[in-house]
Amino acid sequence: MANSFTRLISGRNTAVLLAGLGAGTMATGFLLTSFLSCSSDFPDLRKHNNCMSAALTPAIYGKLRDKVTPNNWTLDQSIQTGVDNPGHPFIKTVGCVAGDEESYEVFAELLESHHQRPAQRLRPPTMKHPTDLDVTGGVFDEKYVLSSRVRTGRSIRGLSLPPACSRAERREVERVVVTALAGLKGDLAGRYYSLGDMTDKQQQQLIDDHFLFDKPISPLLTCAFMARDWPDARGIWHNNDKTFLIWVNEEDHTRVISMEKGGNMKRVFERFCSGLKQVEHLIQERGWEFMWNERLGYILTCPSNLGTGLRAGVHVRLPKLSKDPRFSKILDNLRLQKRGTGGVDTAATGDTFDISNNDRLGKSEVELVQMLVDGVNHLIECEKKLERGQDFKVPAPVAQFRK
Ligand code: ADP
Ligand code: MG
Repeated sequence: MANSFTRLISGRNTAVLLAGLGAGTMATGFLLTSFLSCSSDFPDLRKHNNCMSAALTPAIYGKLRDKVTPNNWTLDQSIQTGVDNPGHPFIKTVGCVAGDEESYEVFAELLESHHQRPAQRLRPPTMKHPTDLDVTGGVFDEKYVLSSRVRTGRSIRGLSLPPACSRAERREVERVVVTALAGLKGDLAGRYYSLGDMTDKQQQQLIDDHFLFDKPISPLLTCAFMARDWPDARGIWHNNDKTFLIWVNEEDHTRVISMEKGGNMKRVFERFCSGLKQVEHLIQERGWEFMWNERLGYILTCPSNLGTGLRAGVHVRLPKLSKDPRFSKILDNLRLQKRGTGGVDTAATGDTFDISNNDRLGKSEVELVQMLVDGVNHLIECEKKLERGQDFKVPAPVAQFRK
């Protein structure tokens, strides 16, 4: 799918190419095919319920359909996952991905529609210096919070993103990242475990313990061409305590994670910030940099992660509140998202949920973690009131963007 040869022989690209080469009558025929198929190519989205299907109009499709990024990535490739997956049982999905950094310029009209916000409200994400990491009240009641985690993604500039990368590019990402990570010292020192070198049992154990990404079974992943060549050049780097982890070549070039059991989100976030700074420094020392720009922040595969890419979350037990019909409304108002504890593709089992911040863009990392901390404390307060037989009020909606 991703290499330029397969892109070249796809019908539409062949037509455009031959026409461009001036191949006479034959090219006229191809041009006609190309013209006809432009309107008849619009995907059937009538049963869809993702952000892409809501935003993609025939006019936008017509305007963007024949554009390509410098790496030959097309709109149709970007939206295929959203066309093939009309909805998702647990979350509202985005329905499109980027193949490279330039996708966000060439297909901006579609890829940015997910955020539905005026550009002037955006501001660069700021990874604050560790001494500024003042998250107020970031230690949760451990009767309710079982584990705390903060993750983000980072992409290596100059290499195509997972939906589009060639095998060579994917292996280069792995080489660059793993070489750099060898420089981590002290509590963060650890090693890389290539998926290809692991036994099935070792892999499953890491998944079951919530350290490793799932096997590439999610259609969101496979329909976005991200499972190609699995497990080639995929793996996980972690420190000895398994509290600082880096996933290589799953949905993003890298996912950087800080996590631990219990409710100390403050410590998890501090480790996240200092570890991420060191990782960036080590990558830069070797002449590489992360994809980032002032308007969109960090560039990642899924438009929903633009900005900070930060998802701070807890596994939290809410047996009473989760049965209350107002639970979803409260989460919406606090701009929180609910997932099952086995990851985005799992249903919640029992009374425990993965609750995390919904936004990534328009706020700094500290602000997002603070929103999560305040929101989860609010949920726990509601749970305690229900335990005492008292009622609670649904909180007023929190603003997504800074005024
Ligand atoms: P991500 O947004 O990081 O890709 P997923 O929903 O795909 O998250 O889940 C990836 C893995 O991370 C899963 O195994 C999930 O159980 C684990 N995970 C997510 N949040 C937490 C948490 N707060 N505590 C422990 N494990 C977590
Ligand atoms: Mg995931």
